[in-house]
Amino acid sequence: MAFVNGNYGKLKESYLFANIAEKVAAFQAAHPERKIIRMGIGDVTLPLAPVVVDAMAKAVAEMGKKETFRGYGPEQGYGFLHDAVVKYYTSFGVTLDTKEIFISDGAKSDCGNITDIFSDANVILLPDPVYPVYNDTNVMRGRKILFMKGRPENDFLPVPDDSVKADIIYLCSPNNPTGAAYSKEQLEQWVAYAKKNDAIILYDAAYEAFIDEDDATPRSIFTVAGAEDCAIEMCSFSKTAGFTGTRCGYTVVPLGLKRKAENGREMFLNKMWLRRQTTKFNGVPYIVQRGAEAALSPEGLEQCRANIRYYKENCRIMGEILDALGIRYYGGKRSPYIWMQCPNGMKSWDFFDLLLTKFAIVGTPGSGFGTMGEGYFRLTGFGSREDTVEGMERLKEGFDRV
Ligand SMILES: *Cc1c(COP(=O)(O)O)cnc(C)c1O
Repeated sequence: MAFVNGNYGKLKESYLFANIAEKVAAFQAAHPERKIIRMGIGDVTLPLAPVVVDAMAKAVAEMGKKETFRGYGPEQGYGFLHDAVVKYYTSFGVTLDTKEIFISDGAKSDCGNITDIFSDANVILLPDPVYPVYNDTNVMRGRKILFMKGRPENDFLPVPDDSVKADIIYLCSPNNPTGAAYSKEQLEQWVAYAKKNDAIILYDAAYEAFIDEDDATPRSIFTVAGAEDCAIEMCSFSKTAGFTGTRCGYTVVPLGLKRKAENGREMFLNKMWLRRQTTKFNGVPYIVQRGAEAALSPEGLEQCRANIRYYKENCRIMGEILDALGIRYYGGKRSPYIWMQCPNGMKSWDFFDLLLTKFAIVGTPGSGFGTMGEGYFRLTGFGSREDTVEGMERLKEGFDRV
């Protein structure tokens, strides 16, 4: 008899985006004349940078010629992309070995797949609210999960509490959905906690490129001394270079990082991840890796930064009007997300309904990101400038009448 993984039965049905889509469709059907402004998008909308497109076109041409055709590549990525990532990290003061970099089809897969190399006996510690993938992938393994509360009092940046005993800690900085980013001092506290407890930090840096170059906020956990003994970092070209549909990311596993198995045997996590990837993954397309390499070239970085500036300007425009309306919000400065408090103590879904029915604006209910997200709402800067301005004008003109 085949048994299924019963842990899947413990997952909450993910109604969030399906519910949103359903409500929006019903509203549009009832009001075909209303133009809906979508400010809930968690996806980039600007096209790929021209140098990325050129590099991929060139790679396609290479694939079409016998002399330059390529089949399977190295599972952990091509050397040229490792070199580009090493150089990129140097720009924020981190020295990596090329063997520490594993190219993948994105940070979501890596966040989920990394669970393979850890024992199910580990206790997991997650920020709340946060990207739901960390929770769900660990529920699938039946692991015990603890939560640390993100609230205005801690700027949505929980720091370690010695009374909490956890083995694997997920940090997302800048955070999706709150936009909050840990300072160097706060990351030092996490590294100290991890070392004291022999824990591992899984650090999701998907939004690091939204931190300005002259901002001292860390772009990588490896800017903190000692992190190489207790952290793994995931990053992605998705939000950095608009690769959400192109698919490329990377995970950094320090060469010296080791922990014991339950039988007492000490093992290197880099070796384990290499074994895992070479066994279960066959690499990212050559064409895509050439595109990613181009995104990290000086010209590519400039073109990608221009897109990020565009999204952040949308956030600035949103923030200006929320300020004028006296609505409290967080984020937007180091991320494409504005995390706003629902006015008058409203619940997330009630506020969603109000925005949709009164203003034809769609956002994301904060409660979809964790218990602590209740009463909050996520707006994103990923829309067009025109839509962002129009949406915020609607709020500015009508908000005091709701
Ligand atoms: C968008 C996002 C990612 C990126 O996932 P990809 O699979 O690389 O597209 C990872 N982590 C967080 C928190 C995100 O919001």
